[in-house]
Amino acid sequence: MTAQQIAIDGPAAAGKSTSAKLVAKALGYLYIDTGAMYRAIALAALRAGIAFDDADSLTDLARRTDIRLESAGDTYKVFVNGEDVSEQIRRPEVGNAASPISAIEGVRQILVDKQRQMASSRPVVMDGRDIGTVVLPQAQCKVFLTAKPRIRAERRALELSQRGLAADIDEIEADIIERDHRDSNRAHSPLRQAEDAHLLDSSAMDIDQVVATIMQWAEAEQ
Ligand code: C5P
Repeated sequence: MTAQQIAIDGPAAAGKSTSAKLVAKALGYLYIDTGAMYRAIALAALRAGIAFDDADSLTDLARRTDIRLESAGDTYKVFVNGEDVSEQIRRPEVGNAASPISAIEGVRQILVDKQRQMASSRPVVMDGRDIGTVVLPQAQCKVFLTAKPRIRAERRALELSQRGLAADIDEIEADIIERDHRDSNRAHSPLRQAEDAHLLDSSAMDIDQVVATIMQWAEAEQ
């Protein structure tokens, strides 16, 4: 039987969301982008002018903020308190703010609860940093997707320029390395490969090869 829960973790810009969306589409599963949820809280915090180390205010903000992930065909949208913020949360400054904010235990507890709830009623493909280790440790198929930092920076730069945003590869690479370091060294739910996760280095692979590999693993699970 094909795995009912597929967890895809890995560092920034490794291609997690692109491959997770395609796997979810192929299997008819729900796709849950947990990074978008941390980005949504980061956007709300930037707008409210809350400092990234103010744990109490950020935990309170996470509790009060209504985040909805919606998919219609190939379009995935993120709503914060009813407002479509799908484009805004993709800005590099929001990703950079999401990293320190996601290190706060109270914020994580609230979002992890929401993620487990979303995964409770349907088969899912969920991507993030702690899905295989913390959110869905019982997932039958776990993948740790990575690629060399320079290659991830090149892919992210291409994605940004296609959306009409300025992209300096060296700057993006420095941001990616800093974010990975912070995500990997935080006290709560650091980015790490689950013991039972398959390691997939996509540095020399295209997206079709990545998706085909994940599908094979998912279909081989009991
Ligand atoms: O994956 P994405 O780049 O959208 O995630 C933004 C940030 O959210 C990450 O750098 C990480 O700090 C945080 N995150 C997390 N746990 C997750 C997903 C994302 O801490 N499950």
